[in-house]
Amino acid sequence: MSKQEIDYSCDQVQQPMLSTDEALKFLLNSVSTVTKTQTKSLDESLYRVLAQDIYSTINVPGFDNSAMDGYAIALKPEQINVSGVLNFKITGRIPAGSTGSALASGCAARIFTGAPIPQGANTVIMQEECKVSDNGNSIETWRPLSLNDNIRPLGNDIQTGTIILKKGKQLKPQDIALAASVGVAELEVFKKIKVGVFFTGNELIEPGDPLNNGEIFNSNRYALVALLTQLGCEVVNLGNIKDDLGATCNALEVLASDCDLIMTTGGVSVGEEDHVKPAVEKLGQLNLWRIKMKPGKPLAFGRVGNSAFIGLPGNPVSTMVTFLLFARPFIKKMQGISHYKNQTTQVQTNFDWHRPRPRREFIRVRLDHTAIPASANLYPKQGSDVLSSMVWADGLVEIPENSTFSKGKVLNYYSLNGLL
Ligand code: AMP
Ligand code: MG
Repeated sequence: MSKQEIDYSCDQVQQPMLSTDEALKFLLNSVSTVTKTQTKSLDESLYRVLAQDIYSTINVPGFDNSAMDGYAIALKPEQINVSGVLNFKITGRIPAGSTGSALASGCAARIFTGAPIPQGANTVIMQEECKVSDNGNSIETWRPLSLNDNIRPLGNDIQTGTIILKKGKQLKPQDIALAASVGVAELEVFKKIKVGVFFTGNELIEPGDPLNNGEIFNSNRYALVALLTQLGCEVVNLGNIKDDLGATCNALEVLASDCDLIMTTGGVSVGEEDHVKPAVEKLGQLNLWRIKMKPGKPLAFGRVGNSAFIGLPGNPVSTMVTFLLFARPFIKKMQGISHYKNQTTQVQTNFDWHRPRPRREFIRVRLDHTAIPASANLYPKQGSDVLSSMVWADGLVEIPENSTFSKGKVLNYYSLNGLL
């Protein structure tokens, strides 16, 4: 059907009906990944996305060193793996940060964790496993000593020339620490993407303002801004926009001038109060989908000027679930993250599902870990308006279209901890 044939005031409009997989595939194939980069100090790099591979120019550790506080010993060949008491003269002391002098065969040096193994030494004994003589000049050991005990060899962790962090990695604390461990002080990361948002609905009131009959507080504004911030986006928030074509077009134009992505909630159905669709179509291009999923049937995707556009449904659970399933991987790919897809695990249901339903359902569940394997309990109210279900839940169980099953069925599970 061409755009001209569509009657926006009519609820019977034919829209493409897509599976969640088809919608996600289409979205991900349309992503333009950010190309601009910037240099950031390690402290500024947390959760930023690496724009180049990082190589190590050094070995870590850069020298053989002691894994223990104890004694480095230059064992004579006849002292290796023998039982009985052995005595070693202490001829040196090597704290971390200093280098000791070479050890003569049959001698020992007091050594501390991280200190370089002196030349000539071939093993380290823990201080708990030996006894120092009363005059402090020698140690006595009573267990067989083998070569290379408690010695961390050069390059044990990282070898010169290896890639330690790959382009497209979203930097976690351990990644930043690893960069520091090879002496890298700054990282080249992709620029943050800028996401412009607004919220449609004449009924929306800001928390803190008085609520009149028929009005509701705007919770989506807080969900969406928090979700985007958590993903590391820069957010431009225009707030509530009235259900009016002119106001919707203005808001889109303002955001299209400098955002990589525009996101809205509500107004993507095809009632005459839903103006997002005609506004995006007027200024750019739009695909309005009915997705075979619950919650969150309508989803709009398109482009206004140079900005991508994603219109999420208005019901608060639908907003969050469609954000997590569709917008999250889209945004992560846009940010340059290599592993942008949502991860699922498997859980066993603690409930039956008797009535087959044509749409794929994403059910809010809480995991019961009192037995192995863990099982998923259903929140009793699964309406797309019941935001408490998202707070109660540990995750979403994915129920395939047209399925029925009994308790114990193993299904895909999206952990909210993993997604949020
Ligand atoms: P719509 O998609 O605009 O038809 O909205 C669907 C439902 O979601 C309606 O009950 C709206 O009142 C509700 N809704 C829309 N936007 C918001 C919002 N920002 N916060 C909370 N509820 C909303
Ligand atoms: Mg509305």
